[in-house]
Amino acid sequence: MFLDAEQRGGADDIHGDVAIVGAGPAGIVLALDLAHQGLDVVLVESGGRKFQPSVQDLGNAAEYDPARHAPMEDCTRRQIGGASVIWGGRCVPYDPIDFEHRTYVSESDWPVTYDEISSYFQRACDYFRCGRAVFDAHEIDAIEQKTIVPGLPDAEVRSSSLERWSLPTNFGHEFRRDLESSRRIQLLHSLTCTEIEVDDSGSRITALRCRSLGSGRALEVTARAYVIACGGIDTTRLLLASNRVHANGIGNHSDNLGRFYMGHISGRVARVCFTTPPRRTIYGFERDIDGTYLKRRFSFSPEFQREHELNNIVSFPVSPDIADPEHHNGVLSFAYLALASPMGRAFAADAIRKAAIGSGDDLRLLQHTRNMLLDPWSTLKFVPTFGYKRFIAHRKVPSFIQYSRSGIYPLHYHGEQVPNRESRITLSDQRDELGMRRVSIDLRYTDRDVDSVVRAHQYWDRYLRDQDCGRLEYLADDVEQSVWNQAGDGFHQIGTTRMSSDPERSVVGPDCSVHGVGNLFVASSSIFVTSGQANSTFMIVAFALRMADHLREVTLAKEV
Ligand SMILES: Cc1cc2nc3c(=O)[nH]c(=O)nc-3n(C[C@H](O)[C@H](O)[C@H](O)COP(=O)(O)OP(=O)(O)OC[C@H]3O[C@@H](n4cnc5c(N)ncnc54)[C@H](O)[C@@H]3O)c2cc1C
Repeated sequence: MFLDAEQRGGADDIHGDVAIVGAGPAGIVLALDLAHQGLDVVLVESGGRKFQPSVQDLGNAAEYDPARHAPMEDCTRRQIGGASVIWGGRCVPYDPIDFEHRTYVSESDWPVTYDEISSYFQRACDYFRCGRAVFDAHEIDAIEQKTIVPGLPDAEVRSSSLERWSLPTNFGHEFRRDLESSRRIQLLHSLTCTEIEVDDSGSRITALRCRSLGSGRALEVTARAYVIACGGIDTTRLLLASNRVHANGIGNHSDNLGRFYMGHISGRVARVCFTTPPRRTIYGFERDIDGTYLKRRFSFSPEFQREHELNNIVSFPVSPDIADPEHHNGVLSFAYLALASPMGRAFAADAIRKAAIGSGDDLRLLQHTRNMLLDPWSTLKFVPTFGYKRFIAHRKVPSFIQYSRSGIYPLHYHGEQVPNRESRITLSDQRDELGMRRVSIDLRYTDRDVDSVVRAHQYWDRYLRDQDCGRLEYLADDVEQSVWNQAGDGFHQIGTTRMSSDPERSVVGPDCSVHGVGNLFVASSSIFVTSGQANSTFMIVAFALRMADHLREVTLAKEV
């Protein structure tokens, strides 16, 4: 059932077995799963059904370095569905090596095994609508060519690993009916949790203090167990701001709350030049038997990563930079002009759009128009086919990757950022409309992060040459500087409520409950110990499902 807090009359107290703050993928999946398991859930969401700038502004940061971090309005969404309203839909799990003890990555030990968490992958895929939990071309019979080009064996470098793409699933939209029709779920939207109330001993949560922005109305939500699922940064902020009993915030007993802030390190420093027959390159999207879009990536075997003490990293071919008219390609220029036009926001999330068009100028517009006029047939063919697949089909093609007759593609890398205590989120003195302190964000990369990217490219290059399949060509003379220049994130918010069985090294324990506060749990990528090569959301949902099973056991057994 949906309840608009702005309009709600009657008593102010609301109660459930479990209260969840935040209706993004984590909160929605958790609520649905708990309700299926027979528990009554109150789901508190700051945003409403539609986007509202004044609500979005509640989440804005006071300080951040724009060279390293995207603005919060680009990387979060205060709306039912959370950032899944604007996300890309790429679904990738962590790898077994991410859960191993790696001596060369400090503070990287997980208290959970890969085997345990991977048992939730199929249920996660079902929520994402991304088909089977299969992430390797060798396991898909219908895929004939197992590696990205013929003759490139899977050894130290692999190219059979796959990412899967969801619809892209907007969790607020896709599960709206289930949430609305469930008699066990009360979704209180347009209501922001401003404080988690703790008893005098500091060991039990007694209520969530919430306020609505329009009317200023205050509500209290009580439950047996409480879950904070506000996204990585806002989850950390709420814990830090709830400081009446725990002066430094709930879960900050060992000064780890807000620390170890990680995202990924990504960008482009090279082109991959295949010397194999161009038509046999798997450069674009493949499809699984159920129609799910799949994409290849170069990765490294775990043995190779261990031997070379390499952070986990992948790369994949992409289209040339659409903003640069020197590609002389009508289709790419059409894409640029569409995204740069006043209609551009209808075609892609603002962050994706801004990254694609860069800062355009009039000269570029002329050059792009010229490219289109010189290449009219490809553009005319492209518009209806791609337009249908991207905007009308139920399962949308994630993007387009232009075929290259020369077998040359820009190579996009997406790599692990290692845990670093000094990279952190703190509370600033600036307050939002509801009086909550805004965050200061200080996302810091290290030499190790950058060095790993540089070496990964050297290894990919060497492997392609050794196998006589191609080479890399660098886009800049100073590769290391170029990696530093591109290092930045904000879309994947990892590490600031990290998990471990040792309370001195973490905020939450292996069951995701805050150490010392048995009825408070965190469902977010902020619990992740390392960032791996994978975008975060698939694992967020896998961990939310694991938490649902755990909460069912402890709540029904009345252990919380
Ligand atoms: C442009 C873009 C593209 C992306 N593409 C991908 C991708 O391809 N693959 C991938 O894996 N990830 C991607 N991501 C990241 C992905 O969207 C997030 O990892 C995911 O949405 C996180 O889910 P969540 O439920 O933890 O948090 P969120 O989605 O952030 O949801 C948190 C919810 O909590 C609410 N909230 C916050 N504070 C409060 C409060 N105090 N009280 C009440 N409610 C509150 C918010 O309004 C929001 O609805 C992308 C993100 C962006 C912005």
